Amino acid sequence: MPTINKSKMADVFRSTVPEAKRHAFFCDLYQTTYRTIVLIGTLVVLFECIMMTMVFMKAGPMSVSRTRTVYFFMYAFLFFVTLACVIYVLGNKALFEKKPRIFQLICNVYGMVVCLWGSMMSAFSHQFSPDISVFLYVSLCVAFFIPMSLWQAVLVFGVNQICFLIGAIYFSPAGQSMMATAINSLFTTCLAAAMASMLYRNRVNAFMSRSIIVEQNQQIRSINEQLQQQVVTDELTRIHNRRYLEREIPAAILEARDNNRPIAVMMLDIDNFKQYNDIYGHRSGDLCLQQIASLIKQATPEGENHIARYGGEEFVVLLIGIEQQEVEATAHAIRETVEQADIPHTGCPRGHVTVSIGVCFSGGEGHSTFEQMLRYADDALYYAKAYGRNRVELYGGVLQ
Ligand code: GH3
Ligand code: MG
Ligand code: MG
Repeated sequence: MPTINKSKMADVFRSTVPEAKRHAFFCDLYQTTYRTIVLIGTLVVLFECIMMTMVFMKAGPMSVSRTRTVYFFMYAFLFFVTLACVIYVLGNKALFEKKPRIFQLICNVYGMVVCLWGSMMSAFSHQFSPDISVFLYVSLCVAFFIPMSLWQAVLVFGVNQICFLIGAIYFSPAGQSMMATAINSLFTTCLAAAMASMLYRNRVNAFMSRSIIVEQNQQIRSINEQLQQQVVTDELTRIHNRRYLEREIPAAILEARDNNRPIAVMMLDIDNFKQYNDIYGHRSGDLCLQQIASLIKQATPEGENHIARYGGEEFVVLLIGIEQQEVEATAHAIRETVEQADIPHTGCPRGHVTVSIGVCFSGGEGHSTFEQMLRYADDALYYAKAYGRNRVELYGGVLQ
């Protein structure tokens, strides 16, 4: 036997917009309904204007016919109420953007007034014939254009139904059967309430689907950013890796060249690191690499610089916009900072970890690419190693 899903049943009676998103939902509802409401309101104003003119222009003075006077005032009533609503709505956009629920409330109240107006028109015409056409099209029009939550729809159309029946009984000639009026109007009321609440639920569903898509997009974007970051980050030392250098640096160098700014590339290599691993183990070697990375960062001046682990126990430092003297001073500062950290290394003549640095400096007028500068820095590093390690060597050739 099929079972009724209780939570789905409950959903019909409550709004499915979570509290945290309700303001955003009403903003959305306001934005999607505003223009239609203003347009319909304007049409109602014009239509009532025409109706009033037609009633007024009929042959004979107004005061002669009570029916004509009643219709005239009914049209005038709807005309003024709608005009006031349209003017208020047009003049309070800023308020509705801040408090969109006020707009929803005005729509509901206006919808109720219009429904009651239709009911009274239909009830009044019952003295001539049991016709509910005005009641019918007014109720359905309101339901079609004004989205209402289920309880709002039940309240608006339910009250309207009761008022209509009371009015119809009051105006109908004595002895006239009210059965057809009651059944037809009740059917219209149920249809209108269902339409208005379905319209509302469709808006809720559309809003929720959109907000899920927006949230998922944000998640994808943030995961993407994290992945992008991971791709250019060295896992061990958490500084940039070689891929970062290959991706970002050529463009940075071109820009520096275009602006005639000096560029320096340093290639840094830990001395006797193989032995360090042999003596202290690979794990300690990893910790040493992490320490060296943070010491390089510490000794490099703030500014337009890029520090990366080039691979193994080699690091690259790129400095942009710094003159040669300061570049050399920075290279010496890095070497000294590592030495002063006094990381024990019994396999080294000095008893602690040291680094050798090769520097390639370009005053800005050369045309060397990053790869060329890196090669020159590596050449200088070769001499630093050859002359005894724990040294800084500057590439002395002419940069092409
Ligand atoms: P030199 O003074 O001439 O540079 O001597 P070296 O021993 O440092 O040079 P070599 O290139 O022979 O050795 C580099 C060593 O770095 C070899 C390798 O075991 C070690 N190494 C490379 N990558 C890592 C790493 O990620 N972790 C650890 N612990 N060691 C690494
Ligand atoms: Mg090496
Ligand atoms: Mg080495």
